Amino acid sequence: MTFHEFITQKYPLYADLDIKVGLTVRQICELNEEYMKAETVIKTDKIKCPGCGKVQDAEVTQHLNAPFATYIKNCDCGYTIMESEWDVVK
Ligand SMILES: [Zn+2]
Repeated sequence: MTFHEFITQKYPLYADLDIKVGLTVRQICELNEEYMKAETVIKTDKIKCPGCGKVQDAEVTQHLNAPFATYIKNCDCGYTIMESEWDVVK
């Protein structure tokens, strides 16, 4: 989803208007910030932390604008578990 599609989804009227009409620069900036943070949870895995060994739920997310999912989890022990260390426990 592009930023323009994101805006027009939130503000259907905006799609019919010229970009110079309707939203202020500030609103555009706020929307852009929101857009940058917009991600969906694809699934939740049970993974084992390579740092402390704790098994925990970890959300796999994907940003609206990303072609691939994000595997990242901050463990309570302070370890940041990356995709290459994504050790799914059945
Ligand atoms: Zn840990």
